[in-house]
Amino acid sequence: MKTLAQIAAELQGYDPQALTCNDVGRFLARLVEPVAQAEEVGIFDALGRVLAHEVISPVSVPPHDNSAMDGYAFDGAQLAAHAPLVLTVTGTALAGKAWQGSVGPGECLKIMTGAILPHGLDTVLPQELAQVDGSRITVPPGRVVAGDNRRLRGEDLMQGQAALRKGERLTPAALGLVASFGIKTVPVHRRLRVAYFSTGDEILSLGEAPREGAVYDSNRYTVFGLLTRLGCEVIDLGVVRDEPALLEAAFTQAAQQADAIITSGGVSVGEADYTRAMMKKLGDVAFWRIAMRPGRPMAVGRIGSSVLFGLPGNPVAVMVTFLAFVRPALLRMMGCTDTEPPLLKARSTEAIRKKSGRTEYQRGMVETATDGTLRVRITGNQGSGVLSSMVQANGLIVLHHAQGNVAAGDAVDVMMFDGVI
Ligand code: AMP
Ligand code: MG
Repeated sequence: MKTLAQIAAELQGYDPQALTCNDVGRFLARLVEPVAQAEEVGIFDALGRVLAHEVISPVSVPPHDNSAMDGYAFDGAQLAAHAPLVLTVTGTALAGKAWQGSVGPGECLKIMTGAILPHGLDTVLPQELAQVDGSRITVPPGRVVAGDNRRLRGEDLMQGQAALRKGERLTPAALGLVASFGIKTVPVHRRLRVAYFSTGDEILSLGEAPREGAVYDSNRYTVFGLLTRLGCEVIDLGVVRDEPALLEAAFTQAAQQADAIITSGGVSVGEADYTRAMMKKLGDVAFWRIAMRPGRPMAVGRIGSSVLFGLPGNPVAVMVTFLAFVRPALLRMMGCTDTEPPLLKARSTEAIRKKSGRTEYQRGMVETATDGTLRVRITGNQGSGVLSSMVQANGLIVLHHAQGNVAAGDAVDVMMFDGVI
């Protein structure tokens, strides 16, 4: 486990007072490590979990050549380019039963989708193309070629082939693939435990009476949602008032129980509260100013062996810093190899003012334009406390560090929420 000072020494030009978003990513990738423990879980419990070992296909899928259609199977070598082919139906092959018997030249087999293609038969004429006359069928010329409508043994996967990589998150398709091997359980990293709490004397818990100058806590709920979508085990430590004893108790409990701790509020410079002081006292923590908007202040480090993410207080800044930095770091801790969300390109419907020298995130709604291309429009007030524009958005427009003003019609990068949060 590297100390923050060791990581800082590895990064050229590291300046906690002026970090780029890129620097943050590189720092966090060094700070966090995948959890070592793995467990074997049933497929129904494996959705979204991260594979701890690769999965090798123990069988070929499908195990036999089989028919992709209901129709008539025959040896395609008999097809002539321009002449019809007349065949005698010698039997019927059903899915799930191997057909016993032989099919010679001039013969065919009625066959159902999924039924094994007997040796020597490589072509299936779909039922609707066959002209049937008693026990004879005619294959019209030019409608099928040899090998049509056949699923080859192992075309999905060959026995012994790596089917799923270590570090892959199990999707619905992956669950199905594992099941298709006849495998009931998969080895996955244990779930990540993440504790979180909100700080600030002006923050009200739900159920408390409103009072002047105070706001209801929203960060715990967005963080809960973001963590739950990631498949983490969450430990909710509530709103912690700005008192050293309470903060110390919360940090200590979080560090004992969780792999990671997420707090919101109290990390900006000049905060008249005890949050920063307590982080410093209890852990190895750096206080950053990041060249980004929204976001900027963030505390990062370790308390005990837990990784600390001290996010800013503003509700949108919490979500943005989570998506930009915390999510990739947590995915890495979960054992994932693929941690960065893909970016889409969409045309901005409007001009956007952008200062170069910082990364800006704008809430946007991506839609398909009438010409079939993607366009994105900004969803209202972009204040860092305004959650309603976040709710109306389906992604974050990412205006990169060196990028300047955007003209209407320019392509911009968008990090889509769908499938991410
Ligand atoms: P801070 O980073 O503590 O200076 O907070 C910045 C702004 O975010 C202030 O207006 C806070 O009232 C607000 N804020 C902080 N924490 C929360 C929270 N948990 N829920 C809603 N707003 C918050
Ligand atoms: Mg505060």
